[in-house]
Amino acid sequence: MTYQAEVSALVPGLSEDAFAASNNAAWTARYGQSLMNTFGSPQRVLVRGEGCYVWDADGRRYLDLLGGLAVNSLGHAHPLLVSAVTAQLATLGHVSNFFATAPQIALAERLLALLDVPAGGGRVFFANSGAEANEAAFKIARRTGRPNVVAAEGGFHGRTMGALALTGKPAIRQPFEPLPAGVTFVPYGDAEALAAAVDGDTAAVFLEPVQGEGGVVPAPAGYLAAAREITERAGTLLVVDEIQTGIGRCGDWFAHTAEGIVPDVVTVAKGLGGGFPIGACIGLGRAADLLGPGAHGTTFGGNPVASAAGLAVLHAVERDGLLDNARAVGAHLRAEVLALGHPLVRGVRGRGLLLGIELAAPPSEARFSAEGANVTVAASVASAALGAGIIVNAVTPDTIRLAPPLILDIAQADEFLAALPSLLDAVGTAPKENR
Ligand SMILES: *Cc1c(COP(=O)(O)O)cnc(C)c1O
Repeated sequence: MTYQAEVSALVPGLSEDAFAASNNAAWTARYGQSLMNTFGSPQRVLVRGEGCYVWDADGRRYLDLLGGLAVNSLGHAHPLLVSAVTAQLATLGHVSNFFATAPQIALAERLLALLDVPAGGGRVFFANSGAEANEAAFKIARRTGRPNVVAAEGGFHGRTMGALALTGKPAIRQPFEPLPAGVTFVPYGDAEALAAAVDGDTAAVFLEPVQGEGGVVPAPAGYLAAAREITERAGTLLVVDEIQTGIGRCGDWFAHTAEGIVPDVVTVAKGLGGGFPIGACIGLGRAADLLGPGAHGTTFGGNPVASAAGLAVLHAVERDGLLDNARAVGAHLRAEVLALGHPLVRGVRGRGLLLGIELAAPPSEARFSAEGANVTVAASVASAALGAGIIVNAVTPDTIRLAPPLILDIAQADEFLAALPSLLDAVGTAPKENR
């Protein structure tokens, strides 16, 4: 048996033959018996991907406008990412943090350079996810010696206990209380409320430039700049959570730079590894030195394979002009969705390739609710899209989120735009199976 055949037999899905023995329904049944039910039943079981497309276990192809939730910045199976990960794994796959590796150091330097940090003016802590990057930021905040933290209503910072304590969604936070203490919430976008909440006991303010999980809600112009002023005055750290918005997603390397501010801490994750798990907490100025020896740690964070993935993503984004592409294709999508003039489209929010299409309830509530009371207008459109071979996300009951690979081209965007009117017309009539 060749290694290749051995691995194919071991890992279902690597060989299409092995996978062809089953289908969506069979795999979904096995999923239901073996996975914790944290995500509900999967919509499809996916077998492979290439560029902006993925294929399911029934052999159907989908245009992926969700990009693994703003993660697959280079799409699927990008040759540069595949080569970088493969070469690094074949050279040195993991060392403990008693040792360092070249990719880890190079990636830290690259991230600091992208933030325009002068030499010695910043430091990176690598983690494996967004929540962990924010945990590091939370610990930095505690090390200021001040007890309190302010975050925004509707904000999302992750599901671990610390990150959850910062998350402004009571429905997911309250079942797990008591959480780390000292966090208060202010309405997002309201600079006066922020100013009133921040005082000499406030260690840090945590904000997203665009609330992604909150429904693709961009901060109003001037809000981050005001937050910078307020925190500066109070000697409070400003932590900008760029886990969803960073690494080109909004058309810039980091979304906060559009406001011309310099935060104290920036966290990134999702798009950085292009699908390989990695997160980073980047401390600038005094925040770079608040975690000293023994104050924090991780076994996997900064793993050389994950770091090589990050370097490959950053290189491809720059080499292939993907910031410009995100801006251009995002602007095209926004303009053309609005130009449809469809009665269900209320507006388009977001920046670059992080877009929220805001929908109105359809005219006939009866028709809308015919398949069950809890199918929202956004879920209905997402379900119709899936049925039509397009993956989008119902991020809130009335908003469809698009967070496609940054390599999405105009022709692929037009595939979605051509299908959208009929998806909107089908609201309330999509077969239940598709959810
Ligand atoms: C996704 C997300 C997180 C959490 O990242 P995980 O990798 O799921 O832990 C934190 N903050 C923001 C803004 C996110 O979008």
